Amino acid sequence: PTPPAMPDALPDVALNPNAKIVLAKRYYRKGPDGTPQEDARALFWRIAGAIAAEEGKYKKSPYKADALAREFYDLMTGWKFLPNSPTLMNAGTDLGQLSACFVLPVGDSIEEIFDAVKHAAMIHKSGGGTGFSFSRLRPKEARVGSTGGVASGPVSFLRIFNTATEQIKQGGTRRGANMGILRIDHPDIIEFIRAKERDGEFNNFNLSVGLTEAFMKAVEADEEYDLVAPHTGQVRERLKARKVFEMLVQKAWESGDPGIVFLDRINRDNPTPKQGEIESTNPCGEQPLLPYEACNLGSINLSAFFVPGTATVPTTKDGGLPHPSPEKAIDWAELKRVIHLGVRFLDNVIDASRFPLERITETVHRNRKIGLGVMGWADLLYQLGIPYDSQEAIGLGERMMQFVQDEGRAASKVLAKERGPFPAFAESTFAERDMGPYRNATVTTIAPTGTLSIIAGCSSGIEPLFALCFSRNVMDGERLVEVNPHFEAALRDTGSHSKKLMEAVAEKGSIQAMDHLPEDLRRVYVTAMDIAPVWHLRMQAAFQKYTDNAVSKTVNLPNSASIDDIRAIYWMAYEQGCKGVTVYRDGCKAVQVLCTGEGE
Ligand code: UDP
Repeated sequence: PTPPAMPDALPDVALNPNAKIVLAKRYYRKGPDGTPQEDARALFWRIAGAIAAEEGKYKKSPYKADALAREFYDLMTGWKFLPNSPTLMNAGTDLGQLSACFVLPVGDSIEEIFDAVKHAAMIHKSGGGTGFSFSRLRPKEARVGSTGGVASGPVSFLRIFNTATEQIKQGGTRRGANMGILRIDHPDIIEFIRAKERDGEFNNFNLSVGLTEAFMKAVEADEEYDLVAPHTGQVRERLKARKVFEMLVQKAWESGDPGIVFLDRINRDNPTPKQGEIESTNPCGEQPLLPYEACNLGSINLSAFFVPGTATVPTTKDGGLPHPSPEKAIDWAELKRVIHLGVRFLDNVIDASRFPLERITETVHRNRKIGLGVMGWADLLYQLGIPYDSQEAIGLGERMMQFVQDEGRAASKVLAKERGPFPAFAESTFAERDMGPYRNATVTTIAPTGTLSIIAGCSSGIEPLFALCFSRNVMDGERLVEVNPHFEAALRDTGSHSKKLMEAVAEKGSIQAMDHLPEDLRRVYVTAMDIAPVWHLRMQAAFQKYTDNAVSKTVNLPNSASIDDIRAIYWMAYEQGCKGVTVYRDGCKAVQVLCTGEGE
């Protein structure tokens, strides 16, 4: 479809200083000599136009493509909603690959393994990240029929994927990101758990152990469990579940890796089990997918829906500033409108996207998964004056995500009426449960929003702020000092603002030790490290409750955290219904796979 022409009266885009740098460096289309060929207006119109143009083929649509393009443009440039990076980079270009998340199968043969390496390279080139399960590979030293030799096992093949990734830049801008998963009952699980012991090993991978319900029960009962060779189904060995679990906790304490995912739970929510089992997620863990499936994400900036100047309600017993009631201080009607437009946008992205493999196109078009999520959550809590680590924030988080989920599904139903349900709907669990019909097999996902949050100028995903004031390295050695705008406004309101104070905050990041500042201010303006790990986990669980896919969240722990603390967090994640968990102990040796807009 031909995108509508750019109208003359298109308003200009107000970019924050970081967005200027990031967009110029990575998102503007460049000419042969590397100079940008577009500005922010051209970029956002290119995207809005390309995505709205898909509307034309749906005869029952209430929108005309040019009017819809304008709505999409306003949505994005008002920093209310942004699609994932590949859509920003590639919509309306020759490349046209618009999804951030892919999962590829790794079969138990040299041919299948190297097919996966090749397909991953093609996906990385197009800007997507890949997840793999290595669980189908025969274990180390198993016999190889055709050669009479012995197999080298999942971990050695993982190294090949890692090396191949090193050489390929995503969309010509960043190195590829991968997720590698091995089931807890694979005979090579111990080697896998220890894979990142050496610094810098598997640096292009996040690793997660796939835990099963059976294994968790064995840990609880202090029993042994079976390690099974996937290619023969034979039990190879039995291990004490608690011993393996302890090792997992120990390694996570040392380096943050591996994380864990709960495979049975992910499959319990698999909307299309007739198409097979879900065995992996995308690189950052928020998007479980079938083999050869891809998903495009988009995020709503919640802080853009704050309505200033509403009357305040008194402090709750959780503490905090007297604050406005969320009922009035959040523009729920506008949020609803944006959710509906966001779902339409993401569904159109599926049609507009060109995938590097026919198999992927088929799978994506059959299920039409999208992942609408949120960012700017911590900022909204600052604006509202509600401490992140409070029951009130957890309650509001649940309510907020339930709203996004309910309205998102309602929007998907509207699309199903206009365009028909996703083709696999009849064989999906929705049909069995008499729900729907829906246009999309999944609607919601909470992405990390590493770059999107920089462009929109808000806090990332549902994460708390890392620091209230800091200097940021924005590529190529450029540094920017940044103060959280809500914090700065609150300081001015309470008459505490001074240059000296800002310097002190920039050095520390947190204000918790600054006794001279008003207590209620300190209570609201908490940062990641001020927040006790259980609150991180509770917030993740609150959002997971109303998310079809999964939630990207890191549970931050202080350097002094013990192994017991990590064990408690893992166990809580299991009990509270999370689909996985990632911990990061401050100052531990891990270098995270790049999932933020910083670096490179
Ligand atoms: N991703 C990737 N490489 C990166 C960052 C992200 O492949 O360097 C993929 C990955 O699947 C991740 C998803 O994009 O889970 C979403 O990440 P994020 O929300 O941080 O991306 P953004 O759209 O903000 O760039």
